[in-house]
Formats: sequence, C-alpha cells, structure tokens
Amino acid sequence: MVIKTTEFVKSSQRWQDCPEGNKPEYAFIGRSNVGKSSLINAMMNSKYLAKTSQTPGKTQLINHFLINEHWFLTDLPGYGYARVSKSTRKDFEKIITNYILNRNNLVNLFVLVDSRLAPQKIDLEFIQWCGESGVPFSIVFTKADKLKPNTALKNAEIYHEELLKTWDELPDTYITSAEKKEGMDDILNFITDTNLM
Ligand code: GDP
Repeated sequence: MVIKTTEFVKSSQRWQDCPEGNKPEYAFIGRSNVGKSSLINAMMNSKYLAKTSQTPGKTQLINHFLINEHWFLTDLPGYGYARVSKSTRKDFEKIITNYILNRNNLVNLFVLVDSRLAPQKIDLEFIQWCGESGVPFSIVFTKADKLKPNTALKNAEIYHEELLKTWDELPDTYITSAEKKEGMDDILNFITDTNLM
C-alpha cells in the first residue's frame, strides 16, 4: 500500500466520542515506550503523525487518523504505566477495553511488544484477554534492530511457547524495526488484504 494521505481526525476520551465508524479501522496498542509512535510514524512515512512519548501516560486519548481517505488508523493509550495511581490506571484500562469491545468497525488490533524482553506479565495478560474476548489481533515485535539477527525471532518463539500453554492457535506475528523500516510492508499488506469495507 502506498500512503498518499494521512489526516488527523480526532482525539476521543471515550469510545462513544470516536468518529462515526463507517470505515475499516486498525488500532495499535502496547506498553508505554514499546515504540508505538515510532512504528506508526515509520509506517506512515511521517515524522510527527503520532507523538513519541518520553513521558509515560502522555498518550491518554484515543487518536484517530484517516489514511488514504479510506481507513482509520487508531493510536490507543499505552497500558501498564508503573508511575500512575491505581485509579488512573483503571480509568485507562476502562477506556481501552470499552473501545476495543464496542468499536464495531475495528478490523484488527496490533498489540506491540518489545522484542528484546522476555514475555512480560502485563503483555501476556492483555493478549490473553484479547483471545478470551474474541478480539481480532496480531502481535507486533518492536525494535528488532537492537538485537542480533534471528534473536528477535527466537524471542518471538518464546512468546509463542508461552501462549501455546493455553491456546491451540497463535495470532499473526510481525517482527519490526521502525528504525530500519523493517516489517512495515508486512503490516500494510495485511491491512490492504483485510480492508474490505
Ligand atoms: P511509545 O511510547 O510506545 O510511543 O514509544 P516511542 O515510539 O516513543 O519509542 C520509545 C523509544 O524507543 C524512543 O527512544 C525511540 O527512539 C525508541 N525506538 C522506537 N522504535 C525503535 C526501533 O525500531 N529501533 C530502535 N533502535 N529504537 C526504537
């Protein structure tokens, strides 16, 4: 897919405030600092579309972008901030889960995890919740350039082994580097292939 136009549409505090769901939608989520903004910007060939967040908790809103005047790219608030209060974290979780469960035009959720780390409890819990809730999702491993070749793949396999303890099937997996622009086309091809509305 060639990215011709990217347009910021709206920041919404709740799923009810999101733009009319009349276009296919693809959302991106992950822990703060996982590389979500960098990935979105690399995919869209834009330096500033998503705001890279050095401060945990900065992206607290559901941000909608209209791509090629045809589909929504949604930048979701990161989950699992260590440095915010429990009640703030609960509020985030509610915003996120309500959006995911109620947004009928959501085609796929891309769950980002850092390819350098062993499976993290919070990521596994979120992925389990997606599976149990019937959310269509894929796992995107980020920052693969920080590892030796094939190490990201090995780390992905460790994730898979963990998930296969409870599941028979694995979600689609992408190994990416925003820095080196690797894996971007695979994600965009998936979006092209499923963008049927
Ligand atoms: P966000 O909080 O998930 O939006 O994360 P950011 O996109 O702001 O990235 C967090 C940090 O990781 C920043 O310092 C980025 O420069 C760095 N980063 C993000 N993606 C990559 C990548 O693919 N490779 C490398 N080497 N660094 C990355």
